[in-house]
Parts: sequence; structure tokens; C-alpha cells
Amino acid sequence: MTNKEIVDEIYRLKKEKNAVILAHNYELPEIQDIADFVGDSLGLSQQAAKVDADVIVFCGVHFMAETASIISPNKKVLIPDLNAGCSLADSMTADELRKWKSANPNAVVVSYVNTTAEVKAETDYCCTSSNAVKIVESIPQDKQILFGPDKFLGRYVKSMTGRDIKIWDGACHVHEKIGEIDFDKKMEEFPNSDFLVHPECGCSTSCMLKSEVFDCNIKIYSTEGMIEHVKNSDNNEFVIATEVGILHRLKKLRPDGKFVPMSENSVCEYMKMITLEKVLDALKYEQFVVKVPEELAKKARIPIERMLEII
Ligand code: SF4
Repeated sequence: MTNKEIVDEIYRLKKEKNAVILAHNYELPEIQDIADFVGDSLGLSQQAAKVDADVIVFCGVHFMAETASIISPNKKVLIPDLNAGCSLADSMTADELRKWKSANPNAVVVSYVNTTAEVKAETDYCCTSSNAVKIVESIPQDKQILFGPDKFLGRYVKSMTGRDIKIWDGACHVHEKIGEIDFDKKMEEFPNSDFLVHPECGCSTSCMLKSEVFDCNIKIYSTEGMIEHVKNSDNNEFVIATEVGILHRLKKLRPDGKFVPMSENSVCEYMKMITLEKVLDALKYEQFVVKVPEELAKKARIPIERMLEII
């Protein structure tokens, strides 16, 4: 089948099965182009809850489909490839978190949404990169916080809030490597660009300090924050420090803009596992179903709902 035939068949099946396609900002361009909604993991899960559909094809990684299943227990959530995992979510297991909690019994647990349902069920508050500071600030000052699994986001939140935070030693392999790039050299090369840096990046804490000390064009943003910045900016040149998939959405948003990836090698192989052929098979065979058992979903829903009450 040609790509055009595959896409036509996807649209036909989507209609027949009353399905929606959700795609993360890091997905392949052709996947973003057929999606009903493109966004970050939480935004997509919120869309999943809102849309009037029987089937949700989640083009992203496994923990995201789980989150959609937790928020929308009555919809059938499909992921086109079960191997689409996440190195960051894998860097903390529920057992490890339980041990950490028992060593720090009075602490409040704040976990990034990039976690499994089991880890969420052991968590007090979930957060995303766009609301992590706000979530931590909402917790009473005298409480110690256990923050996981991302150490870079944890360090960023700790420096922004000055709170007593213990940080888990986890990271995303894609964003961690961005920290190894010579940032100053890139700034010399693109002196007129806005530098948009995701807080999961290995360089985020030093970038944040740079932006405060030198008043330069470095901004720390979640992926949705980057989209908003580019939409509203008078500048038309941007260096983007996150997974390269987002450049497709940014270019569509600002065809007049010049977008330079901080590193062309910032590619998440898990996100790129989702192809048009697999989306077609997902719709055709209603595979692969991601269903979080209700007992677990009930516990995992609590930290997500607490987060949604705050933002
Ligand atoms: S880019 Fe990193 S955090 Fe995002 S899905 Fe891939 S491995 Fe996970």
C-alpha cells in the first residue's frame, strides 16, 4: 500500500469505529499530520477524557497510554506498538519508590507524569514540566519533598523554589545527552536566536542560571510552553533543546521561522516506533489495548486529580 492508501484507510476506520488519534509532539511528522490532536502527554490525556470517542489511538509511549486509560476508564485505549517505552519512566520502579518512602516517612512524593501507573499509585502529587514549580509551591513549606524520577527537572524545581527536596537519580537518555553539548558555542553561532530549553535536559539548571545572570534569550519551557513562546514571539529564529519531533509542529505554526535543533541527534527511538502501518493495524485489529486495572487506576488517579486541582 502507498502512504496515501494507508492514510485513507486510517481515516475510513477512524470514522467507522468512532476513534480519535492523539499524537505526542515528538512523533514522526506523518503521524502528527493524521492526528486529531497533537500535544504533550498531559494535554493529550485531558483530550482523551474530553473527546466523544469509543476508541483512542495513542501515538506516544506506554506510560502516556496508561495515563489516558487512568483518566478515561470507559474508553478503549490503543497503543500501536507495545515496545514504545520510556527510559525516564523505567528509571524508577514502584518497589524502589516504596523503599524511598519508607526511608523518608514524613516526606510528600511528587512524581513527574513520565512514570508507570504503579509509581503513580505510590505518589502524592503528579506534575508535568510546565507545572512542577507550582505543584511544589502548593505543598506546605515545612514538608520535605521526594521528587522523581527526573533529576534535571528535580534540580530545576529545587533551584526555583528553594525547597527541601530529595531528588531521584533518573533521567531521559535523549534529554540527558543535550547537556553534553557546548551551549556557549551554540550561543556564539546563533547570537540572535531565542534558546528554548526543556527542563529535562542535562543543561537545564545551568541554562536557568545563565538566563538569570546574563539576561540572555534562554527560556526553560515544557514542549507546550515552547509552542506558546514561538506563537507569540517577535523573533523568527529559535534554537530548540528537546526531542527533534517538535520542530515539525513549530514549523507548521510559524512557516516564516528558522528552527535549529540544539542537537540533531536528540531523537527518541521509542516515539519513532509508531508508524502509519502500525496505526492502521491498531485500528484494524483494535490492538494493543492498554487498560490499567480499576483498583490500580483508582489509586493512580488521586495524584493526577490533585495536580489538576492546582493548575
Ligand atoms: S524523549 Fe525521553 S522522556 Fe520522552 S518518551 Fe522518549 S525516553 Fe521518555
